[in-house]
Amino acid sequence: MRNFSCTKCGTKVYFKNVTCLKCGHALGFDPDTLAVIALTPDAEPGLYRRITGDTRQVLRYCSNVVHGACNWLTRADDQNLFCVACDLNRTIPNLSEPGSLTAWQDLERAKKRLVYSLLRFGLPLDTSPAPPGRLIFDFARNTMTGHLDGVITINILEADAVERERQRQQFDEPYRSLLGHLRHESGHYYWQVLVESAGLLEEFRALFGDERADYQSALTQHHTYGPKPDWQLNHVSGYASMHPSEDWAETWAHYLHMVDSVDTAEAEGMEPRAAGLIFGSIWPFKKYDVYRDETLDSLLERWVPLTLALNSMNRSMGHADYYPFVIPNAAREKLRFVHQVIRGKR
Ligand SMILES: [Zn+2]
Ligand SMILES: [Zn+2]
Ligand SMILES: [Zn+2]
Repeated sequence: MRNFSCTKCGTKVYFKNVTCLKCGHALGFDPDTLAVIALTPDAEPGLYRRITGDTRQVLRYCSNVVHGACNWLTRADDQNLFCVACDLNRTIPNLSEPGSLTAWQDLERAKKRLVYSLLRFGLPLDTSPAPPGRLIFDFARNTMTGHLDGVITINILEADAVERERQRQQFDEPYRSLLGHLRHESGHYYWQVLVESAGLLEEFRALFGDERADYQSALTQHHTYGPKPDWQLNHVSGYASMHPSEDWAETWAHYLHMVDSVDTAEAEGMEPRAAGLIFGSIWPFKKYDVYRDETLDSLLERWVPLTLALNSMNRSMGHADYYPFVIPNAAREKLRFVHQVIRGKR
């Protein structure tokens, strides 16, 4: 993600901030400019204007600001009280139940990061009247995390760090996070949009396999025997070897991890070099909008040394690896497919 600075005083501010700690101005995320901006109160309570840029437009916070679950802005004249990201929620947890509020706040934080990336890519959040229609989120207890026909369901227990770690160990996963879940599940939605509806099924099947393969028996097989023995040659993760649809969703999630991380590294001025890379060939890297201009190869040229460096950094602190995966050549071609369909180049 890009860095943000207070548009009043210039101090560094963060994606989730609602107040500038230096100058005290109200802050909010502006989906129109995809930036955190400083606000000045308008005459009417609860309404604001930008301090720079389009100062005529009257804005207000998304209704979920009262729950500490959102800092995104909407136009005051918009009938919808929710921001473009919260508007995708169909079900939120029962906030009177203990633990639900903090779980939902964590989920919203991860979801905002996902939606930010989708907006940066210029991907639709609603394909109506064409299928799958609007992207919808259900956050609930006692439910299975998954995706069905445009609806992403997340069990809010995933926001419980102890439970998440228990499941990570139970399923022998190297990595499990809320953001990872949300990115993965969004992949199933965008498969319908960017592959199925775009007439790319044949190309998809040549790379990932036939998604019409029986899902239930693949799942049972996976839970009984674990990942396919040679999964490391063909997939980004063990779970990806379960079924072509999961291979796609895992690859999609990895692609979003990669683009967000490289974008953040660039914003922070971090450009680790691959061993043996010579100054003046491809390094120092040219600055690109990683959501628009990079080729997959140039992204990977940044991503691989970045992850090696960050893994080493994490080990220095005794943490688990930042990116505990290796991308085999076959998975690289799948990532290329994701890269090209997102950018309309397939
Ligand atoms: Zn400020
Ligand atoms: Zn909101
Ligand atoms: Zn899935």
